[in-house]
Amino acid sequence: MKKIDTDVLVVGGGPAGALAAEVVAIGGGDTILIDKKDDPAQSSACGGLVSVDAWERLGGKDRAIVNEISGVLVHPPGGDDFELSSSKVKAYVIDRDRLNADLLSRAEDKGVRIRPKTGIFARDGSEVKVRSTDGSRERTIRPSVIVGADGPRSDVRRLFDLERPSELLYAIQAEMELDIFSNDYVEVFFGEEVASGFFGWIIPTGGGKAQVGLGTSDGDKLKQSFINLLDRVGADYPEEFRTGVIPIGIPDHSTGGNVITVGDAAGQVKPTTGGGLYPISITAELAGKAALKGLSGMENPSDYYYREWMSKVGKELNREMLLHRILEVVSDENLSRLLRLLNRPNLADWIADNGDIDHLYPLAKKMAKNPLVMTTIVKQLPGEFASEVKKELT
Ligand SMILES: Cc1cc2nc3c(=O)[nH]c(=O)nc-3n(C[C@H](O)[C@H](O)[C@H](O)COP(=O)(O)OP(=O)(O)OC[C@H]3O[C@@H](n4cnc5c(N)ncnc54)[C@H](O)[C@@H]3O)c2cc1C
Repeated sequence: MKKIDTDVLVVGGGPAGALAAEVVAIGGGDTILIDKKDDPAQSSACGGLVSVDAWERLGGKDRAIVNEISGVLVHPPGGDDFELSSSKVKAYVIDRDRLNADLLSRAEDKGVRIRPKTGIFARDGSEVKVRSTDGSRERTIRPSVIVGADGPRSDVRRLFDLERPSELLYAIQAEMELDIFSNDYVEVFFGEEVASGFFGWIIPTGGGKAQVGLGTSDGDKLKQSFINLLDRVGADYPEEFRTGVIPIGIPDHSTGGNVITVGDAAGQVKPTTGGGLYPISITAELAGKAALKGLSGMENPSDYYYREWMSKVGKELNREMLLHRILEVVSDENLSRLLRLLNRPNLADWIADNGDIDHLYPLAKKMAKNPLVMTTIVKQLPGEFASEVKKELT
């Protein structure tokens, strides 16, 4: 079997892999990026919602932006919908395939060797074995550093005995024509019936179309929840839809030695919104920089990387995990009560000025100042968890 030496092997050509590979190539590292898809630009399931700040950090081309969002229509369980809006554009809706294509072509321009239709399937010590998806070619690659950017069910993670994120949310989504509330608003739906433990969404993509989808912590309820959501928004079950998983809950040992995981593979996803693009807009660059440090002799670049990304974004994701756990246990009745507080003038005005889909923890802290919030949450939570929530939020 042919053996290939390279400085860095990046597995996965989604945004995390493409961005990390680009950083390594700019720094002078010989970089191979493999992806098992025929065309790695064909993205994984994604609503394409990204904050303005994260979009700027990702550095995608504006041709990928299909819509601008300045408000949200909230559907609490049991009705009484309300809107929160801002005079500013808060987020973009982007075409993920275009973003992937642009990031990959940028990486290629910087010298990354991109090998589609190629998957990693085995390892022998620090060497890895890759195979073309039609099975016709196998190669051994001897990289100095491996970057696992191969999504929520990462093979790199499995082959190198690294830990998985603690929880998977199950998601389903379809783009369809729909009577939407407003092209500038996303809609979010809460409650057992439509999205147990998470939420459903409508993300307008322009031209009267929208991504309609949901995430739930209960995979068995995925299809029925989707039917319920579609009934609620007056849409038929679509012929084409996509499913996916959203990994949340950062593991302690997601990296090790010269193996670095990034993006979904490392659980770098916001537990409150399911957004992966915001963390990637920070961590992919760190992964690339750590790989370069490995090339210049640092013994455990993964330790350096873990410390860096935890301090820049990981701690915040951990805190948001607490909010996610509240959403999983709180009853529909109490959830409705809590959500409606967002519509009170003091909070609604604060959200209009400061609201930010990337940073929901400050909003939770602000809400927790209202005594009703603590009594509602704490009454319903098991003792130890209730104390933890009290300690963190007050
Ligand atoms: C339904 C849904 C909606 C979402 N909506 C949003 C949203 O609106 N906004 C947002 O910010 N986030 C959203 N997310 C999350 C977001 O899509 C992910 O966080 C993001 O795609 C992760 O990027 P990544 O580069 O880590 O992985 P991916 O984009 O999944 O890329 C991983 C790549 O690795 C390749 N690969 C896998 N295994 C191997 C192997 N063995 N060998 C070689 N290659 C391999 C795959 O082919 C793939 O191309 C959503 C997720 C879902 C499921």
